[in-house]
Amino acid sequence: SSTTRKFGGTGMGLAICKKLVCLMGGEIGVSSTFGEGSCFWMIIPLPLADHQDAGQLSSTDESISNKETSLAGIHILVAEDNVFNQQVAKGLLEYEGAIVSIAENGKAAIAHLCSEHTDVVLMDIQMPEMDGLEATKLIRESPSIANIPIVAMTANATQSDIEKYQTSGMNGYISKPFDPDLLFRAILDIVSSKEQVFGKGFARS
Ligand code: MN
Repeated sequence: SSTTRKFGGTGMGLAICKKLVCLMGGEIGVSSTFGEGSCFWMIIPLPLADHQDAGQLSSTDESISNKETSLAGIHILVAEDNVFNQQVAKGLLEYEGAIVSIAENGKAAIAHLCSEHTDVVLMDIQMPEMDGLEATKLIRESPSIANIPIVAMTANATQSDIEKYQTSGMNGYISKPFDPDLLFRAILDIVSSKEQVFGKGFARS
């Protein structure tokens, strides 16, 4: 639905990709067959994830170890207007076994909740048509969906922001860009307790 689909782009995207990949010490290329499609590829050297570091995030809370962060079978609605963020969240959560649905704004989120079983909502704050705060207030006022846990996903996590999320009826928040381990913990904590988890905070340290 983007304008580049209608009008074509500036032609800079691939040039930028090539520059970035080269700067990262990698390679990029393409093979293309007319009428069939194109395959764009890149190879970049990356360090392996340090699982020692990931463990430190939960070292103060031994109730959840890395092995328990499976979201198998949990129905999660991601209400988020940014397509890139939608894909990142969906990919991470599905990799952990969750069943993920996407809503592109607050209205679509409410419509989804009214028709589909949902265990937890990850709610972006700024969205077109209806933002996350308004959607949360409406959800809390709608008896059939009022008890579904809602976690704010936000880049704004000052004390006054957090109070706003709490007042609107949200159960907790995670700050963007989110750390996957903290995201999984927030979801597991909220789904298992259905309580407020604002006190713990799932902000990136
Ligand atoms: Mn947004």
